Amino acid sequence: MISFLPIGGGNEIGANSYYLNFNGNGIILDCGIHPQKTGLESLPNFDLIKDKSVDSCLISHAHQDHIGSLPFFVKNFPYVKIITTPQTRALAELTLHNSVSILKKEIEEDDFEFYSHDEVDLLIKMIDYKEYQNEFELNSYHQQKDAKVNCTFYDAGHILGSAGILLENNNHKIFYTGDINLSSQTLQSAARLPETKIDTLILETTYGATDSELLLDWNSESLRFAKEANNILNNGGSILIPVFSLGKMQEMLGTIWHLMLKRKLTNGDIYTGGLGTKINRAYDYNRFTVSRVDEEFELNAISQKDYYEISNPEEFFKHPCIVLASSGMMIKGTSSFIFAKRWLKQKDSAIFTVGYMAEDTPGYVVTNAVRGDKIQLTELDEQIEVNCTIKNFKFSAHARREDLLKIVDKLKPDNVILTHGDEEALDWMGSSILKKYKNIKVQTAAIGKEIKIL
Ligand SMILES: [Zn+2]
Ligand SMILES: [Zn+2]
Repeated sequence: MISFLPIGGGNEIGANSYYLNFNGNGIILDCGIHPQKTGLESLPNFDLIKDKSVDSCLISHAHQDHIGSLPFFVKNFPYVKIITTPQTRALAELTLHNSVSILKKEIEEDDFEFYSHDEVDLLIKMIDYKEYQNEFELNSYHQQKDAKVNCTFYDAGHILGSAGILLENNNHKIFYTGDINLSSQTLQSAARLPETKIDTLILETTYGATDSELLLDWNSESLRFAKEANNILNNGGSILIPVFSLGKMQEMLGTIWHLMLKRKLTNGDIYTGGLGTKINRAYDYNRFTVSRVDEEFELNAISQKDYYEISNPEEFFKHPCIVLASSGMMIKGTSSFIFAKRWLKQKDSAIFTVGYMAEDTPGYVVTNAVRGDKIQLTELDEQIEVNCTIKNFKFSAHARREDLLKIVDKLKPDNVILTHGDEEALDWMGSSILKKYKNIKVQTAAIGKEIKIL
Protein backbone atom coordinates (compact mmCIF):
# COMPACT_ATOMS: atom_id res chain seq x y z
CA MET A 1 0.00 0.00 0.00
CA ILE A 2 1.19 3.51 -0.82
CA SER A 3 -0.51 6.50 0.79
CA PHE A 4 -0.03 10.28 0.81
CA LEU A 5 -0.98 12.59 3.66
CA PRO A 6 -0.39 16.37 3.62
CA ILE A 7 0.50 17.65 7.09
CA GLY A 8 1.13 21.22 5.91
CA GLY A 9 0.78 23.18 2.66
CA GLY A 10 -1.53 21.23 0.35
CA ASN A 11 -4.02 23.63 -1.16
CA GLU A 12 -2.03 26.77 -0.28
CA ILE A 13 1.53 28.06 -0.38
CA GLY A 14 2.18 27.39 3.26
CA ALA A 15 4.15 25.08 5.52
CA ASN A 16 4.74 22.46 2.82
CA SER A 17 5.09 19.01 4.33
CA TYR A 18 3.81 15.71 2.97
CA TYR A 19 3.89 12.24 4.47
CA LEU A 20 4.24 9.25 2.15
CA ASN A 21 3.94 5.69 3.36
CA PHE A 22 5.32 2.87 1.19
CA ASN A 23 4.28 -0.45 2.76
CA GLY A 24 5.36 0.78 6.19
CA ASN A 25 8.31 2.91 5.07
CA GLY A 26 7.43 6.47 6.13
CA ILE A 27 8.95 9.36 4.18
CA ILE A 28 8.39 13.07 4.79
CA LEU A 29 8.71 15.36 1.78
CA ASP A 30 9.68 18.86 2.95
CA CYS A 31 9.28 20.47 6.34
CA GLY A 32 8.22 24.07 5.75
CA ILE A 33 6.99 27.00 7.72
CA HIS A 34 4.00 29.15 6.70
CA PRO A 35 5.39 32.50 5.52
CA GLN A 36 2.39 34.58 6.64
CA LYS A 37 1.50 32.85 9.89
CA THR A 38 3.39 33.28 13.13
CA GLY A 39 4.47 31.07 16.02
CA LEU A 40 3.10 27.52 16.36
CA GLU A 41 0.41 28.34 13.78
CA SER A 42 3.13 28.51 11.14
CA LEU A 43 4.29 24.90 11.63
CA PRO A 44 2.92 21.76 9.90
CA ASN A 45 0.58 19.62 11.99
CA PHE A 46 3.10 17.02 13.21
CA ASP A 47 0.36 15.49 15.41
CA LEU A 48 -1.13 13.94 12.27
CA ILE A 49 1.86 11.58 12.02
CA LYS A 50 2.70 11.05 15.67
CA ASP A 51 1.52 7.41 15.63
CA LYS A 52 2.89 6.59 12.20
CA SER A 53 6.28 5.23 11.23
CA VAL A 54 8.57 7.99 10.02
CA ASP A 55 11.92 6.81 8.65
CA SER A 56 13.29 9.58 6.45
CA CYS A 57 12.78 13.20 5.55
CA LEU A 58 13.71 14.60 2.13
CA ILE A 59 14.05 18.35 1.59
CA SER A 60 13.41 19.69 -1.94
CA HIS A 61 15.03 23.11 -1.38
CA ALA A 62 16.02 25.68 1.22
CA HIS A 63 13.12 28.16 0.98
CA GLN A 64 11.42 28.62 4.35
CA ASP A 65 8.10 27.22 3.12
CA HIS A 66 9.94 23.91 2.49
CA ILE A 67 12.63 23.70 5.20
CA GLY A 68 11.78 26.19 7.99
CA SER A 69 10.19 23.73 10.43
CA LEU A 70 12.93 21.10 10.18
CA PRO A 71 14.36 21.91 13.66
CA PHE A 72 10.91 21.46 15.21
CA PHE A 73 10.28 18.26 13.25
CA VAL A 74 13.58 16.84 14.56
CA LYS A 75 12.50 17.63 18.13
CA ASN A 76 9.47 15.37 17.57
CA PHE A 77 11.24 12.72 15.49
CA PRO A 78 14.91 12.68 16.54
CA TYR A 79 15.90 9.44 14.78
CA VAL A 80 14.71 10.29 11.29
CA LYS A 81 17.27 10.31 8.50
CA ILE A 82 17.32 13.70 6.74
CA ILE A 83 18.59 13.88 3.17
CA THR A 84 18.87 16.72 0.66
CA THR A 85 21.28 18.01 -2.00
CA PRO A 86 24.73 19.28 -0.87
CA GLN A 87 23.79 22.83 -1.96
CA THR A 88 20.56 22.84 0.07
CA ARG A 89 22.52 21.58 3.06
CA ALA A 90 24.95 24.52 2.69
CA LEU A 91 22.06 26.99 2.40
CA ALA A 92 20.27 25.43 5.39
CA GLU A 93 23.26 26.36 7.49
CA LEU A 94 22.57 30.00 6.66
CA THR A 95 18.77 30.04 6.74
CA LEU A 96 17.78 27.72 9.61
CA HIS A 97 19.39 29.91 12.26
CA ASN A 98 17.23 32.70 10.91
CA SER A 99 13.95 30.79 11.18
CA VAL A 100 14.76 29.65 14.73
CA SER A 101 15.45 33.27 15.78
CA ILE A 102 12.17 34.48 14.25
CA LEU A 103 10.11 31.75 15.94
CA LYS A 104 11.80 32.34 19.25
CA LYS A 105 10.63 35.95 19.15
CA GLU A 106 7.09 34.90 18.25
CA ILE A 107 6.45 32.04 20.64
CA GLU A 108 6.24 32.98 24.26
CA GLU A 109 4.66 29.82 25.63
CA ASP A 110 6.53 28.43 28.63
CA ASP A 111 6.06 24.79 27.75
CA PHE A 112 7.35 25.16 24.21
CA GLU A 113 10.77 23.60 23.85
CA PHE A 114 12.97 25.93 21.90
CA TYR A 115 15.61 24.91 19.49
CA SER A 116 18.96 26.52 20.29
CA HIS A 117 21.49 27.73 17.76
CA ASP A 118 23.89 25.01 18.93
CA GLU A 119 21.21 22.47 18.15
CA VAL A 120 20.81 23.96 14.68
CA ASP A 121 24.54 23.41 14.14
CA LEU A 122 24.14 19.80 15.26
CA LEU A 123 21.13 19.34 13.01
CA ILE A 124 23.09 20.55 9.97
CA LYS A 125 25.78 17.97 10.74
CA MET A 126 23.06 15.29 10.82
CA ILE A 127 21.80 16.13 7.35
CA ASP A 128 23.02 13.66 4.75
CA TYR A 129 23.35 14.81 1.15
CA LYS A 130 23.14 13.25 -2.30
CA GLU A 131 24.12 14.74 -5.65
CA TYR A 132 21.63 15.21 -8.47
CA GLN A 133 20.86 12.11 -10.53
CA ASN A 134 22.52 9.70 -8.10
CA GLU A 135 20.09 6.99 -7.05
CA PHE A 136 20.10 5.97 -3.37
CA GLU A 137 18.03 3.65 -1.17
CA LEU A 138 15.67 4.56 1.63
CA ASN A 139 14.94 1.75 4.04
CA SER A 140 12.47 1.42 6.88
CA TYR A 141 13.63 0.68 10.43
CA HIS A 142 10.53 -1.38 11.18
CA GLN A 143 9.27 -2.80 7.95
CA GLN A 144 11.45 -4.75 5.53
CA LYS A 145 9.10 -6.51 3.09
CA ASP A 146 8.26 -4.50 -0.04
CA ALA A 147 9.25 -1.31 1.78
CA LYS A 148 12.49 -0.37 0.01
CA VAL A 149 12.31 2.94 -1.86
CA ASN A 150 14.85 4.09 -4.45
CA CYS A 151 15.28 7.83 -4.58
CA THR A 152 16.86 10.27 -7.06
CA PHE A 153 17.13 14.08 -6.98
CA TYR A 154 16.72 16.06 -10.23
CA ASP A 155 17.74 19.72 -10.58
CA ALA A 156 14.43 21.65 -10.34
CA GLY A 157 15.82 24.91 -11.82
CA HIS A 158 14.12 26.97 -9.09
CA ILE A 159 17.00 28.11 -6.81
CA LEU A 160 20.47 26.81 -5.94
CA GLY A 161 20.20 23.18 -4.82
CA SER A 162 16.49 22.79 -5.57
CA ALA A 163 15.40 19.27 -6.43
CA GLY A 164 12.50 17.38 -7.90
CA ILE A 165 12.36 14.02 -6.11
CA LEU A 166 11.81 10.65 -7.82
CA LEU A 167 10.72 7.82 -5.53
CA GLU A 168 10.34 4.23 -6.71
CA ASN A 169 8.81 1.40 -4.70
CA ASN A 170 8.02 -1.99 -6.32
CA ASN A 171 7.90 -0.41 -9.79
CA HIS A 172 5.53 2.37 -8.73
CA LYS A 173 7.19 5.69 -9.53
CA ILE A 174 6.27 8.92 -7.79
CA PHE A 175 7.75 12.27 -8.82
CA TYR A 176 7.45 15.27 -6.49
CA THR A 177 8.29 18.48 -8.39
CA GLY A 178 8.98 20.62 -5.28
CA ASP A 179 9.11 24.17 -6.66
CA ILE A 180 10.12 23.85 -10.29
CA ASN A 181 11.07 26.10 -13.21
CA LEU A 182 11.29 24.91 -16.79
CA SER A 183 13.01 28.03 -18.13
CA SER A 184 16.41 29.47 -17.26
CA GLN A 185 16.85 32.55 -15.08
CA THR A 186 20.00 34.73 -15.14
CA LEU A 187 22.09 32.32 -13.04
CA GLN A 188 20.02 29.16 -12.70
CA SER A 189 19.54 26.79 -15.65
CA ALA A 190 16.15 25.21 -16.36
CA ALA A 191 14.91 22.05 -14.58
CA ARG A 192 15.76 18.52 -15.63
CA LEU A 193 13.04 15.89 -15.55
CA PRO A 194 13.29 12.09 -15.24
CA GLU A 195 13.44 10.27 -18.59
CA THR A 196 10.84 7.72 -17.57
CA LYS A 197 7.09 7.30 -17.26
CA ILE A 198 5.80 8.31 -13.83
CA ASP A 199 2.81 6.68 -12.11
CA THR A 200 1.99 9.45 -9.66
CA LEU A 201 2.98 13.09 -10.10
CA ILE A 202 2.88 15.47 -7.13
CA LEU A 203 2.79 18.83 -8.91
CA GLU A 204 3.31 22.40 -7.66
CA THR A 205 0.83 24.92 -9.10
CA THR A 206 2.09 28.36 -7.97
CA TYR A 207 1.27 30.07 -11.28
CA GLY A 208 -1.79 27.96 -12.13
CA ALA A 209 -4.04 31.03 -12.01
CA THR A 210 -1.69 33.33 -13.94
CA ASP A 211 -2.11 33.72 -17.68
CA SER A 212 1.20 32.60 -19.24
CA GLU A 213 1.17 35.63 -21.56
CA LEU A 214 1.64 37.80 -18.47
CA LEU A 215 4.76 35.82 -17.53
CA LEU A 216 7.37 36.89 -20.07
CA ASP A 217 10.63 35.02 -20.34
CA TRP A 218 13.41 36.36 -18.10
CA ASN A 219 15.22 38.28 -20.89
CA SER A 220 12.14 40.09 -22.20
CA GLU A 221 11.09 41.01 -18.66
CA SER A 222 14.67 42.32 -18.04
CA LEU A 223 14.40 44.71 -20.97
CA ARG A 224 11.01 45.97 -19.76
CA PHE A 225 12.57 46.40 -16.30
CA ALA A 226 15.56 48.36 -17.73
CA LYS A 227 13.29 50.76 -19.62
CA GLU A 228 11.23 51.59 -16.54
CA ALA A 229 14.30 51.76 -14.29
CA ASN A 230 16.03 54.22 -16.64
CA ASN A 231 13.02 56.56 -16.40
CA ILE A 232 13.55 56.72 -12.64
CA LEU A 233 17.37 56.71 -12.43
CA ASN A 234 17.82 59.30 -15.22
CA ASN A 235 15.53 61.66 -13.33
CA GLY A 236 17.61 61.37 -10.18
CA GLY A 237 15.34 58.87 -8.39
CA SER A 238 16.22 55.67 -6.55
CA ILE A 239 14.59 52.25 -6.82
CA LEU A 240 13.66 49.87 -4.02
CA ILE A 241 13.25 46.23 -5.02
CA PRO A 242 11.90 43.87 -2.32
CA VAL A 243 13.45 40.40 -2.85
CA PHE A 244 13.66 37.05 -1.07
CA SER A 245 17.19 36.75 0.26
CA LEU A 246 17.43 33.27 -1.25
CA GLY A 247 17.02 33.08 -5.01
CA LYS A 248 15.47 36.36 -6.09
CA MET A 249 18.26 38.49 -4.55
CA GLN A 250 20.93 36.59 -6.52
CA GLU A 251 18.99 36.43 -9.79
CA MET A 252 18.04 40.14 -9.70
CA LEU A 253 21.57 41.21 -8.77
CA GLY A 254 22.92 39.20 -11.73
CA THR A 255 20.23 40.62 -14.03
CA ILE A 256 20.89 44.25 -13.03
CA TRP A 257 24.63 43.80 -13.45
CA HIS A 258 24.29 42.26 -16.91
CA LEU A 259 21.95 45.08 -17.98
CA MET A 260 24.46 47.69 -16.75
CA LEU A 261 27.35 45.93 -18.52
CA LYS A 262 25.40 45.90 -21.79
CA ARG A 263 24.64 49.60 -21.24
CA LYS A 264 20.93 48.92 -21.27
CA LEU A 265 20.57 50.20 -17.70
CA THR A 266 21.91 53.46 -16.25
CA ASN A 267 24.79 52.89 -13.84
CA GLY A 268 24.12 53.60 -10.19
CA ASP A 269 25.09 52.25 -6.79
CA ILE A 270 23.65 48.82 -5.94
CA TYR A 271 22.80 48.09 -2.31
CA THR A 272 22.44 44.56 -0.93
CA GLY A 273 22.72 43.26 2.62
CA GLY A 274 22.08 40.78 5.38
CA LEU A 275 21.44 37.12 4.78
CA GLY A 276 21.18 37.72 1.00
CA THR A 277 24.85 38.73 0.84
CA LYS A 278 25.89 35.53 2.63
CA ILE A 279 23.76 33.50 0.22
CA ASN A 280 25.46 35.26 -2.73
CA ARG A 281 28.69 33.61 -1.56
CA ALA A 282 27.03 30.18 -1.49
CA TYR A 283 25.87 30.77 -5.08
CA ASP A 284 29.42 31.69 -6.14
CA TYR A 285 30.98 28.77 -4.30
CA ASN A 286 28.62 26.30 -5.99
CA ARG A 287 28.78 27.70 -9.49
CA PHE A 288 30.66 24.65 -10.83
CA THR A 289 28.68 22.04 -8.88
CA VAL A 290 25.29 22.79 -10.48
CA SER A 291 24.10 23.63 -13.97
CA ARG A 292 24.54 27.38 -14.52
CA VAL A 293 23.78 29.65 -17.46
CA ASP A 294 27.35 31.03 -17.10
CA GLU A 295 29.47 29.18 -14.58
CA GLU A 296 32.29 31.74 -14.73
CA PHE A 297 30.02 34.55 -13.47
CA GLU A 298 30.48 35.53 -9.82
CA LEU A 299 28.11 37.73 -7.80
CA ASN A 300 30.99 38.74 -5.58
CA ALA A 301 32.65 40.50 -8.54
CA ILE A 302 29.76 43.01 -8.66
CA SER A 303 30.47 46.21 -6.78
CA GLN A 304 27.82 46.48 -4.02
CA LYS A 305 27.22 48.61 -0.96
CA ASP A 306 25.81 47.19 2.27
CA TYR A 307 22.45 48.72 3.25
CA TYR A 308 23.06 47.78 6.88
CA GLU A 309 25.83 50.37 6.91
CA ILE A 310 23.37 53.18 6.08
CA SER A 311 22.21 54.75 9.31
CA ASN A 312 20.05 57.46 7.73
CA PRO A 313 17.73 56.34 4.88
CA GLU A 314 18.01 59.85 3.34
CA GLU A 315 21.41 58.63 2.04
CA PHE A 316 19.58 56.51 -0.53
CA PHE A 317 18.14 59.62 -2.18
CA LYS A 318 21.37 61.63 -2.53
CA HIS A 319 22.34 59.80 -5.74
CA PRO A 320 20.31 57.46 -7.94
CA CYS A 321 20.66 53.90 -6.63
CA ILE A 322 19.04 50.48 -6.67
CA VAL A 323 18.37 48.77 -3.33
CA LEU A 324 17.74 45.01 -3.27
CA ALA A 325 16.28 44.41 0.19
CA SER A 326 14.58 41.46 1.85
CA SER A 327 11.94 40.35 2.62
CA GLY A 328 10.33 39.64 -0.74
CA MET A 329 6.76 40.23 0.47
CA MET A 330 7.80 43.21 2.67
CA ILE A 331 6.83 41.43 5.88
CA LYS A 332 6.51 43.90 8.77
CA GLY A 333 9.79 44.75 10.49
CA THR A 334 12.06 43.57 7.64
CA SER A 335 14.41 45.92 5.75
CA SER A 336 12.21 46.16 2.65
CA PHE A 337 9.20 47.04 4.86
CA ILE A 338 11.13 49.75 6.72
CA PHE A 339 12.60 51.21 3.51
CA ALA A 340 9.20 51.10 1.74
CA LYS A 341 7.65 53.42 4.33
CA ARG A 342 10.27 56.05 3.43
CA TRP A 343 10.20 55.30 -0.33
CA LEU A 344 6.43 55.73 -0.64
CA LYS A 345 6.84 59.41 0.30
CA GLN A 346 9.58 60.09 -2.29
CA LYS A 347 8.10 61.61 -5.44
CA ASP A 348 10.91 60.98 -7.95
CA SER A 349 11.68 57.43 -6.76
CA ALA A 350 10.08 54.03 -7.29
CA ILE A 351 9.31 50.66 -5.78
CA PHE A 352 9.66 47.81 -8.29
CA THR A 353 8.13 44.50 -7.26
CA VAL A 354 9.60 41.47 -9.02
CA GLY A 355 7.86 38.38 -7.73
CA TYR A 356 4.93 36.62 -6.14
CA MET A 357 3.06 38.46 -3.37
CA ALA A 358 0.65 36.53 -1.17
CA GLU A 359 -2.59 38.32 -0.21
CA ASP A 360 -2.59 39.94 3.23
CA THR A 361 1.09 40.92 2.97
CA PRO A 362 2.37 44.54 2.84
CA GLY A 363 3.98 43.59 -0.50
CA TYR A 364 0.53 42.76 -1.91
CA VAL A 365 -0.80 46.14 -0.77
CA VAL A 366 2.09 47.97 -2.47
CA THR A 367 1.84 45.88 -5.65
CA ASN A 368 -1.80 46.89 -6.06
CA ALA A 369 -1.34 50.60 -5.31
CA VAL A 370 -0.75 53.53 -7.68
CA ARG A 371 0.45 57.07 -7.08
CA GLY A 372 -2.13 59.12 -5.18
CA ASP A 373 -3.63 56.14 -3.32
CA LYS A 374 -3.74 56.15 0.45
CA ILE A 375 -2.57 52.75 1.69
CA GLN A 376 -2.04 50.94 4.97
CA LEU A 377 0.81 48.43 4.94
CA THR A 378 -0.67 46.50 7.88
CA GLU A 379 -3.78 46.95 9.99
CA LEU A 380 -1.70 48.54 12.73
CA ASP A 381 0.20 50.97 10.51
CA GLU A 382 -0.81 54.52 9.73
CA GLN A 383 -2.12 55.48 6.29
CA ILE A 384 0.54 56.61 3.83
CA GLU A 385 -0.11 58.50 0.64
CA VAL A 386 1.69 56.92 -2.32
CA ASN A 387 3.95 59.59 -3.85
CA CYS A 388 6.47 57.31 -5.57
CA THR A 389 6.06 55.29 -8.75
CA ILE A 390 5.11 51.63 -8.34
CA LYS A 391 5.84 49.15 -11.12
CA ASN A 392 5.29 45.42 -11.03
CA PHE A 393 7.41 42.85 -12.83
CA LYS A 394 7.16 39.10 -12.93
CA PHE A 395 10.58 37.47 -12.79
CA SER A 396 9.43 33.97 -12.18
CA ALA A 397 11.38 31.21 -10.45
CA HIS A 398 8.36 28.94 -10.99
CA ALA A 399 7.08 27.23 -14.13
CA ARG A 400 4.34 28.92 -16.14
CA ARG A 401 1.10 26.97 -16.15
CA GLU A 402 1.56 25.80 -19.77
CA ASP A 403 4.97 24.47 -18.72
CA LEU A 404 3.34 22.60 -15.83
CA LEU A 405 1.12 20.93 -18.42
CA LYS A 406 4.27 20.03 -20.38
CA ILE A 407 5.54 18.20 -17.29
CA VAL A 408 2.32 16.16 -17.28
CA ASP A 409 2.76 15.56 -21.01
CA LYS A 410 6.34 14.33 -20.64
CA LEU A 411 5.97 12.19 -17.51
CA LYS A 412 2.61 10.66 -18.53
CA PRO A 413 1.33 10.01 -15.00
CA ASP A 414 -1.83 8.01 -14.21
CA ASN A 415 -2.44 10.11 -11.08
CA VAL A 416 -1.72 13.76 -10.43
CA ILE A 417 -1.85 15.30 -6.95
CA LEU A 418 -1.94 19.11 -7.05
CA THR A 419 -0.11 21.10 -4.33
CA HIS A 420 1.41 24.54 -3.62
CA GLY A 421 -1.24 26.81 -5.14
CA ASP A 422 -4.32 28.80 -4.20
CA GLU A 423 -7.81 27.60 -5.04
CA GLU A 424 -7.94 29.33 -8.40
CA ALA A 425 -4.56 27.87 -9.38
CA LEU A 426 -5.57 24.35 -8.36
CA ASP A 427 -8.86 24.69 -10.26
CA TRP A 428 -7.21 25.82 -13.49
CA MET A 429 -4.56 23.09 -13.35
CA GLY A 430 -7.09 20.40 -12.44
CA SER A 431 -9.57 21.24 -15.17
CA SER A 432 -6.84 21.77 -17.80
CA ILE A 433 -5.29 18.37 -17.08
CA LEU A 434 -8.69 16.65 -17.17
CA LYS A 435 -9.62 18.39 -20.44
CA LYS A 436 -6.41 17.31 -22.14
CA TYR A 437 -5.89 13.85 -20.67
CA LYS A 438 -9.12 11.97 -20.14
CA ASN A 439 -7.53 9.04 -18.27
CA ILE A 440 -5.55 10.92 -15.65
CA LYS A 441 -6.95 10.92 -12.13
CA VAL A 442 -6.48 14.39 -10.58
CA GLN A 443 -6.70 15.07 -6.85
CA THR A 444 -5.99 18.11 -4.72
CA ALA A 445 -3.83 17.91 -1.62
CA ALA A 446 -5.39 19.18 1.62
CA ILE A 447 -4.01 19.05 5.14
CA GLY A 448 -5.19 15.91 6.95
CA LYS A 449 -6.79 14.38 3.82
CA GLU A 450 -5.12 11.04 3.13
CA ILE A 451 -4.94 9.89 -0.47
CA LYS A 452 -4.54 6.16 -1.15
CA ILE A 453 -2.21 6.00 -4.12
CA LEU A 454 -1.96 2.19 -4.48
ZN1 LIG B 1 10.69 27.83 -3.38
ZN1 LIG C 1 7.51 26.96 -2.20
